[in-house]
Amino acid sequence: MNKIYLDNAATTPLRQEVIDEMMLVLKENFGNPSSTHSFGRSAKTVLETSRKSIAKRIGANAQEIIFTSSATEATNWILKNAVSELKVERIITSKVEHHATLYTVKNLQKEYGIEVDFVSILECGSVDVTHLVDLLSKGGKTLVTLMHVNNEIGSVLDIEKVGRICHQHHALFHCDTVQSIGKTEINLQELPVDFIVASAHKFHGPKGAGFAYVKKGIIMQPMFYGGEQEKGLRAGTEAVHQIAGMAKALELSYDFLTSERSCISDLKEYCQKQLVANFPDIKINGKDTFYNILNVLLPFSEDKTAMILFNLDMKGIAVSRGSACQSGSVKPSHVLAEILTEDDINKPSLRISFSHYNTKEDIDSLIDGLKGI
Ligand code: PLP
Repeated sequence: MNKIYLDNAATTPLRQEVIDEMMLVLKENFGNPSSTHSFGRSAKTVLETSRKSIAKRIGANAQEIIFTSSATEATNWILKNAVSELKVERIITSKVEHHATLYTVKNLQKEYGIEVDFVSILECGSVDVTHLVDLLSKGGKTLVTLMHVNNEIGSVLDIEKVGRICHQHHALFHCDTVQSIGKTEINLQELPVDFIVASAHKFHGPKGAGFAYVKKGIIMQPMFYGGEQEKGLRAGTEAVHQIAGMAKALELSYDFLTSERSCISDLKEYCQKQLVANFPDIKINGKDTFYNILNVLLPFSEDKTAMILFNLDMKGIAVSRGSACQSGSVKPSHVLAEILTEDDINKPSLRISFSHYNTKEDIDSLIDGLKGI
């Protein structure tokens, strides 16, 4: 069976060059980067070259990049540090954030009694910036955490504008850039952002590697105690091969950004046209969404909701209902709950997310698969 992967917002296939790079590092640079002998030094060189390469691609300084195992880990650390060390008393976020943010904020509210405000989400899926300004105008040391690209519907935040507003109100700004890093230009030299987070597996790198960007001058406390790795902020021997794979993946994503973005945008447009042609009553969830994510409300009855993914999977086609962590559940998505009507929320929605490895034939197969339901 020819398998078709259209769930690239959940994770992406590794590029061959990334696998080659990791294999090379596993073989040639197995030393512990904290060792002072030549084996350790060569592993340390891989680590620091990777850090510089990642920093350069996003306009950061190498010292501002802290390697983690995932974006979830980075977000937990940053938000907790903001409350416990930077004395943030209030967090402003939105109800459409990833659970990595939402559950961390909820837990901080329980543990530290901080105030939490939710900025309104417009019908199109975007953040209501006027409401954000309103919320920011009432005092207290505040951190704003809003995602750049929503992983379920692909709505896009104007980071530049939101960052500027946050800083005008003396609030810190944390932006979850998991879905946008490697897929759009990010220049932290110009963006008014204090923290961002990323996960390598979203841009054709390995799982188990991510990073936090912490703007120079912000003092962080360690997330783990132990050795001096990551300037003592994250003790534990570094996963050198995964970090090298992440740096390679980011480098290639930016080298090929223009051509891959154009190829993926064409695929999304083709998919949307085919869906509308074959299912005239289909609705698109969200407006002006990111070029690799298409979320649609299918004109099928509610009782088909649970069956659709299963039926497509039987045909070798992988799509999802929302974020990977909730795709197995028939519970309505917390993101769609913010933008759909009561009636529509229980109807079947599908997230189709593309990469440059997809083809128009993949989309034709998806349409055939859906027609057979
Ligand atoms: N934020 C967003 C927007 C995501 O899409 C994801 C993963 O789906 C995460 C955070 C968490 O990433 P990870 O599971 O790699 O830590």
